[in-house]
Amino acid sequence: MEQHHVDVMVIGAGISGISAAAHVLRDQPGASLVVLERRARVGGTWDLFKYPGIRSDSDMPTFGFGFRPWRDARILADGAQIRQYVEDAAADRGVLERIRFGRRALSANFSHETGRWDVEVEDETTGERESYSAGYLVGATGYYDYDRPYRPEFPGEADYQGTLVHPQQWPEDLDYKGKRVVVIGSGATAITLLPAMADDAASVTMLQRSPTYVLTLPKIDPLTSVMQKLRAPARLTHKVVRTRNIALQRGSYAFCRKYPKLARKALLGLVRAQAGKGVDMRHFSPTYKPWDQRLCVVPGGDLFKVLKSGKADIATDHIDTFTADGIRLKSGEELKADIVVTATGLSVRLMGGMDLTVDGAPVDVTNRVLYKAVLLEGVPNMSLVIGYTNASWTLKADLAADYTARLLAYMRRGGHDIATPVASDGDRSQFSVMGEALTSGYITRADKVMPRQGTRDPWKLWNNYYRDRAMLQDAAIEDAPLRFEKAGRKTGETARAEEPTRAA
Ligand SMILES: Cc1cc2nc3c(=O)[nH]c(=O)nc-3n(C[C@H](O)[C@H](O)[C@H](O)COP(=O)(O)OP(=O)(O)OC[C@H]3O[C@@H](n4cnc5c(N)ncnc54)[C@H](O)[C@@H]3O)c2cc1C
Repeated sequence: MEQHHVDVMVIGAGISGISAAAHVLRDQPGASLVVLERRARVGGTWDLFKYPGIRSDSDMPTFGFGFRPWRDARILADGAQIRQYVEDAAADRGVLERIRFGRRALSANFSHETGRWDVEVEDETTGERESYSAGYLVGATGYYDYDRPYRPEFPGEADYQGTLVHPQQWPEDLDYKGKRVVVIGSGATAITLLPAMADDAASVTMLQRSPTYVLTLPKIDPLTSVMQKLRAPARLTHKVVRTRNIALQRGSYAFCRKYPKLARKALLGLVRAQAGKGVDMRHFSPTYKPWDQRLCVVPGGDLFKVLKSGKADIATDHIDTFTADGIRLKSGEELKADIVVTATGLSVRLMGGMDLTVDGAPVDVTNRVLYKAVLLEGVPNMSLVIGYTNASWTLKADLAADYTARLLAYMRRGGHDIATPVASDGDRSQFSVMGEALTSGYITRADKVMPRQGTRDPWKLWNNYYRDRAMLQDAAIEDAPLRFEKAGRKTGETARAEEPTRAA
């Protein structure tokens, strides 16, 4: 089988993969680089999800790339807009022509002898195998399983005669006009679906076990509007608004964590003001502290508008059983439904299910810490991009991309073939990187899939943009835990320190 060799291989053409490729090409325009992508288009999440109303719940100046202005004054954007923006960025930066679509990376082995990754790839359109080698690998595969969403089974499901749909596998021809719809879930997806479906459906009920904090955002950003009216250059507007949004986001997150009681009072007060007197605050009063789970945003108060209009409602209860024509709740109430949407979330998965080995020895990601939140302990020449969960994902993806590009340039200048971060046992904690702070279902499930949280710098994940920027963008590449070497070491000579033991 013919083997293609490249300097850099990026796996995944979502936001993270496009950012990584664009940053590497910025610093080394002559590098050979390929992006492997399973799907037929750029965009990842924003190409996959098709449910009504699909939109960001992060503000676009920070969810967009640092290197490409987001030109719309609307704070949030819909899925199609985001996908197009990512594709336009890929085209502008010369990345689009380097993407091989329909390719699934199956496994990758790093050899110290050659200083290269050997990557096995399947062309999913033909079923044929391809073989690549790459000097450096970037895992930009997102954090969930594209093939299987998280979908717990409910009692009595088999009796249900209506249509069951998961948002990750939304049938584009699903006709919900005049139908009674129940959406199971309380996260961003359920909160988006309610206003999006309410006009056409006969009724839409959000069925939640427990409430989520919701925050209304204006639809249009006044500062962007003013700067646009003053004909400020798009780059300047992007920079100013982005800087302000990062500070606001970081400040409000820090405030919520430091003063949870006060933050809760403020958040619930805002809901009361938006939802009006008739609202049953039981549906909006979570049992946890603000930002223990991701906050849900409501653009222009759209959720409250449909609730007030009576086109949609919320039930906070537990499912007793599905029946032939709906769901019976533990309280005894019955919800009739022609369509049930199970907005139950994602199955967390890293590296797109690839098998990773170093000199033939399997790499257990869940046993390792991340160096500067980007490189995986003991794994040479590889970046693993995991964005923020308490801020816009892209802020971190951009930092990881910038660091990767700088590391590669440093290696090239210094004539280094291999860079490996080496941790000691005391650097690892028993919690995953999503660990102790967030408590939502998928974060808890992530514990079994994600790397460990570090106990100290540079292994500890802070999820703090300012800290990460100083560490990834401003600090020197040269650093004691990062070992550089020439290729040529024979298999079996792997340094003991590179083989982690499970943290106690
Ligand atoms: C519905 C929804 C809404 C979201 N909204 C927000 C938001 O508002 N703000 C926010 O910060 N985050 C949000 N997120 C999180 C979101 O996933 C990230 O923000 C971001 O889009 C992730 O980009 P990514 O490129 O890292 O991963 P993805 O978008 O998941 O892209 C990964 C790509 O890798 C490809 N791939 C995976 N495995 C392989 C393989 N083995 N071989 C080849 N290709 C592979 C996939 O096909 C995919 O194209 C949302 C997530 C969902 C599901």
